[in-house]
Amino acid sequence: MTKVKSAIDFTPVRAYNVPISFLGVNMSNQFEKYSNTFAKMIQCPTVSSSGAEYFDKFQQVLKEEFPLVFSNLEVFYPGKDKDSESRAILLKWKGKSDRRPMVLMAHQDVVPASPETWKYDPYGGTLEDGKIWGRGAMDCKNTLFITINAVEELIAEGFVPEHDVYLSYSDCEENSGMGAPYAVQWFKDHDVHPVVAVDEGGAIVENAFPGMKMPFAMVGIMEKGYADVRFTAHSKGGHSSSPPNNTPLARLGAFIDYCETHVLFKRSMSKPALQMLKGVSTGLGGPLKFITKHAKGFAPLIVKALPMITPFGKALLGTTMVFTMAQSSDAPNVIPQSASVVANLRFGPGDKSADCIAKLTDLAKKYDLEVEVLTCREHSAFVDTECDEYKHFVDTMRECFPEIGISPYLMFGGTDCRHMQTIVPCAIRCTPCRLNPQQLASMHASDENIDVQSLIDGTAFFKKFISNFK
Ligand SMILES: [Zn+2]
Repeated sequence: MTKVKSAIDFTPVRAYNVPISFLGVNMSNQFEKYSNTFAKMIQCPTVSSSGAEYFDKFQQVLKEEFPLVFSNLEVFYPGKDKDSESRAILLKWKGKSDRRPMVLMAHQDVVPASPETWKYDPYGGTLEDGKIWGRGAMDCKNTLFITINAVEELIAEGFVPEHDVYLSYSDCEENSGMGAPYAVQWFKDHDVHPVVAVDEGGAIVENAFPGMKMPFAMVGIMEKGYADVRFTAHSKGGHSSSPPNNTPLARLGAFIDYCETHVLFKRSMSKPALQMLKGVSTGLGGPLKFITKHAKGFAPLIVKALPMITPFGKALLGTTMVFTMAQSSDAPNVIPQSASVVANLRFGPGDKSADCIAKLTDLAKKYDLEVEVLTCREHSAFVDTECDEYKHFVDTMRECFPEIGISPYLMFGGTDCRHMQTIVPCAIRCTPCRLNPQQLASMHASDENIDVQSLIDGTAFFKKFISNFK
């Protein structure tokens, strides 16, 4: 392989300089074109909150690489009037009608990367082994590429969509910024009512469920709720040489231990969990296939057993809580006057945040702890998997990837799509790209990469998704 020059000077370069005929594989023009364009996108280090100039450069690359999109679509910058640093971008492709608009979403920003832990430069866009390596390769410049590229190619083919198509790319998804809310406000202000949105979320993955025998497209139909809660223990402090009982850290420790060793929030089989288990049953074998296929009847057994087998079971069947941060005295010989821990909660479809936090507050009282909710949101609504738009997504998936299974999926993490879901009834979270286990594990970690073939397949998917949407 060949390392490319540094991305810092923003010079778009080829991701490799090995003559195509020397690679021993038949690299099509499409492969080369997609690789080069995608490498240029990776080479822009659009780390969230890194500064508007990084996003300006990224958008310049988009303008150069997708000229038909930028000359045929109307371009808007939602939120820029409120915040001059905002770089959210919204593109409108006028269709034959404005009756059933769709929104294809992605985010331009990426999380930071520590180059010393990477095989290749995280902003190099290196092509190796048929894959492009770099931050954002699968979260989610791939989603951005396959949606905008599909539109570019359809315009080149002279296609006009039946209904308006919007491309909405936020600039701050990774730090839960305002990019997507600004876009939602734009739709409200312009009285536009999209009927379907597609954003990142699930993907085509192996081992989507323990014992899975085939790759599955996991199609996100809802997101769990989210909260960060701080628990603080106070004391008079003092010198550590004559300690009293029940010091702040001891109370916090006992509280943490209780929370970790008890089921605080009732687990249950929610509708999305049931849909997911039934969905994955086709890819399982033996008793697991039977149990998941008849998940409703086996619900009491699954709710009891699955969380014992895998943490995934706990997350699927209820609200989870984990302690993630701690703070206490500054010196080893000082008893803290106050010490605190922060817990992160993910609310299941059966739970309201207020009920969970009330329960925690009652429990915290027993340990003489103060409770402060730092941030909180409810779980999203869920997509009706019987609606035409969802079926269209699944039908397109079947057509493009006939050999895979497809299942609805309850998302444990968050996406921009939760904002769009407040105005769009069918908000689907899935990027039609194959990810192997290494690629899946590279999200927000080292060695993020995507197969160029996935960019080819994903583009073909969205071309079909748009052109067959009536
Ligand atoms: Zn993402």
